[in-house]
Amino acid sequence: MIPLLSGGEQRRLWAVVALVAVPLLLVVNTAESPTLGRPPRAAAVAPPPAATATATPSPTPTAAPVTPTAIPPATATLAPPVPVERSLRVPILMYHHVGPLPADADALRRDLTVAPERFAEQVDYLAREGYQTMPLAQLAAALHGEAHLPPKPVVLTFDDGYRDNYDYAFPMLQRAGYTGTFFVVTGLVGHAEYLTWEQIRAMADGGMEVQSHGRDHVDMSRLSAQALERQVTESRRVLESHLGRGVRLFAYPAGRYSPEVIAALRAAGYQAAVTTRHGSTHTTAEVFALRRVRVRGSDTLPAFASKLRP
Ligand SMILES: [Zn+2]
Repeated sequence: MIPLLSGGEQRRLWAVVALVAVPLLLVVNTAESPTLGRPPRAAAVAPPPAATATATPSPTPTAAPVTPTAIPPATATLAPPVPVERSLRVPILMYHHVGPLPADADALRRDLTVAPERFAEQVDYLAREGYQTMPLAQLAAALHGEAHLPPKPVVLTFDDGYRDNYDYAFPMLQRAGYTGTFFVVTGLVGHAEYLTWEQIRAMADGGMEVQSHGRDHVDMSRLSAQALERQVTESRRVLESHLGRGVRLFAYPAGRYSPEVIAALRAAGYQAAVTTRHGSTHTTAEVFALRRVRVRGSDTLPAFASKLRP
C-alpha cells in the first residue's frame, strides 16, 4: 500500500505517524514514572537488564568479535591521569586576635593576641623583605598544579573571626597591599568580640579571603557523621549565601581532625584544610593537613623573622 503513495503523501503519512506516536510515547513515559517512583523494588530490579545490556555490546552479532578489541584502547586513554605529587614551601602564619589586650587577659588570651604595634611591625618586615601574600586558595591550587606562586610567598591566616581582625589587621593589610585568609565560625558571627556579617562582607569586598572554621568551633574528630556533615556543609552554605562567593577551605577548630573529618570535607566539596601542626612545607597528598606557623603574642620581631626561615 505504501508504494502506491506519492512522495508528498508519504511525508504526510509519516507526519501523522509522528503526531500519534509522540503523544503515545509521552503517555507511556508518564504512565511508567509512577511505577518507577516506587523506589526500592524498581531500583533492585533495574540493574540486571542494564548489566546484560552493557555486557552484550553491539546491536549486530557479527560486529561482536571486532568491538571487544576496539574498546580496551579507548578506555585506556580515558583513564584518569595519575595525580602529580607536589611539595611547596610556603609559610602559613596563624594569628587569632590582633588588638589591645583586655585588662583581665589570662595567659591563653595573651598568647593568642598580637598587639597592633607588633602586627604593624611584622607586616612592615614582610614588605621590606619582599614577601608577597596570597590567598590560601592559591596555595591549594598550586599544590594541584593549577596556579603559580609568587617568588617569596607567605599566607596570613586568622582563626575564629574576632572583631579586632576588622579593626586592626584588615586596615593594616590593606595599607600594605596585602591579603589575609580569615576563618570564620559562622555560629559566632555577631556575638560579642566576634565579627558581624557587615564587617565580614566589607573585608571580603576589600580583598580579604573568608573561609570556614565550622559552625560551632567543636572538636570535629569526636562528632557523629551527621553532626560532622552539618558543621562542614552548613558553615559553607551560610558563608556563601552572605558573601556570594565560593568557600572551599577549612580550618579545623582547635586543630582536631581525623580521616572521617577529611572525608566529610571532601564530600562537602572542600579543596584544602589547615591544621595547627607546625611546618611550612606542604604536599599534594596532605592538602587537607596543611601545616602552619603560630605567631604568638610574645613574639619579638627577631623571633617572628626566624619563624619564616626554612
Ligand atoms: Zn579556632
